[in-house]
Amino acid sequence: MNDRVALLPGSFDPLTNGHLDIIERGLLVFDRLIVGIAHNSRKQTLFSVDERKEMILRSVNGDARVEVDAFEGLTVEYARKREVTAILRGLRAVADFEYELQMATMNRQLTPGLETLFMMTSEKYFFVSSQNVKEIASFGGDVSALVPPFIAEQLKEKLGE
Ligand code: ADP
Repeated sequence: MNDRVALLPGSFDPLTNGHLDIIERGLLVFDRLIVGIAHNSRKQTLFSVDERKEMILRSVNGDARVEVDAFEGLTVEYARKREVTAILRGLRAVADFEYELQMATMNRQLTPGLETLFMMTSEKYFFVSSQNVKEIASFGGDVSALVPPFIAEQLKEKLGE
């Protein structure tokens, strides 16, 4: 079988509705997705890798087309090891573009033949990032429109007053 598989790499700290939107729409284009939690032990995160894994699995209701894994090191190395068809990234604002262009070009140099595909964010979520969700939650703001309900609860537990 020649399944078309995409790697969606990211921090997912935590998963947002913007990520979920890319996962759902990515599955219209690819047969399967590997959501790859890029783990960097030097980088401080709010949620552990296991917590993030659990969040993603629960949010996709155990959809068998979605695998959640964590990896350390270069994304292209992991992509090569998993023999994916492409890397999938979401694009929000113009501000994302320059960084993503650099990464995609670098990755192609490192691994010729491995393409990065970009999916434009839904207009509903162009302003949503894990970073601003954490910020809003830390000030006691309501993030229930930005993340799945149980993640809003977990944010409250971790950051709430
Ligand atoms: P990273 O730290 O690598 O940017 P993130 O967890 O922030 O990882 O994001 C993972 C992927 O999801 C990236 O491709 C990012 O552009 C995309 N993404 C994040 N938020 C949104 C959103 N609201 N709409 C579309 N794509 C998004």
